[in-house]
Amino acid sequence: MVPQGSRAELEFGGPLGAAALLLLLPATMFHLLLVARSGPARLLGPPPYLPELEELWSPWALLLCLTWLGLQAALYLLPARKVAEGQELKDKSRLSYPINGNPIYDFFLGRELNPRICSFDFKYFCELRPGLIGWVLINLALLMQEAELRGSPSLAMWLVNGFQLLYVGDALWHEEAVLTTMDIIHDGFGFMLAFGDLAWVPFTYSLQAQFLLYHPEPLGLPLASVICLINGQSGRGSALPPPFIRSLFIQHPLAVGYYIFRGANSQKNTFRKNPSDPRVADLETISTATGRRLLVSGWWGMVRHPNYLGDLIMALAWSLPCGVSHLLPYFYLLYFTALLVHREARDEQQCLQKYGLAWHAYCRRVPYRIVPYIY
Ligand code: NDP
Repeated sequence: MVPQGSRAELEFGGPLGAAALLLLLPATMFHLLLVARSGPARLLGPPPYLPELEELWSPWALLLCLTWLGLQAALYLLPARKVAEGQELKDKSRLSYPINGNPIYDFFLGRELNPRICSFDFKYFCELRPGLIGWVLINLALLMQEAELRGSPSLAMWLVNGFQLLYVGDALWHEEAVLTTMDIIHDGFGFMLAFGDLAWVPFTYSLQAQFLLYHPEPLGLPLASVICLINGQSGRGSALPPPFIRSLFIQHPLAVGYYIFRGANSQKNTFRKNPSDPRVADLETISTATGRRLLVSGWWGMVRHPNYLGDLIMALAWSLPCGVSHLLPYFYLLYFTALLVHREARDEQQCLQKYGLAWHAYCRRVPYRIVPYIY
């Protein structure tokens, strides 16, 4: 939530940074999509060609987008659903907004923390459903296109689809956990989240599958097995063909990336919901002046953001099936590292404001931020 009282400290480089990101994010996404389908697939070179305006506009594509959003909105509004309580706002009931008066900055970050019409929460709706499920559908369409082109999808394509399906399935399965994320608690609903959730996620997160469609990558079983071990799969008995992939997924239920990611997120969510839950009751904690305690053992005693570490290891596993001949499939890993380093710094700043001395004590006790003994 934004600090109250005097001027709130501006994030993302203030209005200038926000203006640059407003242009840079759509341009980068556009560039990546053009480059992924070009022969050389050069991440840093100029785009191979610029499509004509008519190529970019299609009433059918617009209709498809609107239908997709409409379908997701209808599902979101279905009465048969669980209703979860969000985090208590800092001022207990009132929402507060800083008057910094810069239209570019406000447009980028969003002035409204919880924009709603009746029970339809725009930010919460956009966070998971249209973009994340859209990402999986785009991946699936690319897999089917590859099957059409080459007779059957490649092992690399199966892996990328399987890993990312696991990630999205996990996010939807743990949907309630979104309520304790920075996006929901702290960030307004502006360009950053709207563009990020609806355009950036489905189109740039599917970059590996797009790359594989135009640049097939032979991948042997031993290497595929190692990559599965890095990503981590818990899909016991999942129905993903072909059978050897299924066996890989089942053989490594405790593999690295997903294991750390899910373990850390679940541990904190369980602790925040009910600190006396037997699964977290034995963990060591320190108290803070707010009455909330901080975990200092378990995953959160290893580094201050173990969930980011797991996420980054999975990001590496998503790129590896694309081989090492191009930098492009590693764009997600590079971008995500920068995003999480920046996000971690923002969260530290907010936790310092919330917990003061207790946060300093936590930092002394757990000195590393994301990667043990390195960062
Ligand atoms: P986190 O889940 O990391 O939550 C941070 C909050 O956790 C802090 O503000 C603090 O809030 C609480 N906390 C911090 N340390 C402790 C501790 N020691 N004990 C107890 N509570 C603690 O926030 P994010 O929203 O950044 O990330 C959520 C997940 O989403 C992560 O797994 C991340 O990797 C993923 N993510 C994925 C993205 C993608 O594009 N794929 C983008 C961004 C995030 P408080 O004390 O108030 O509870």
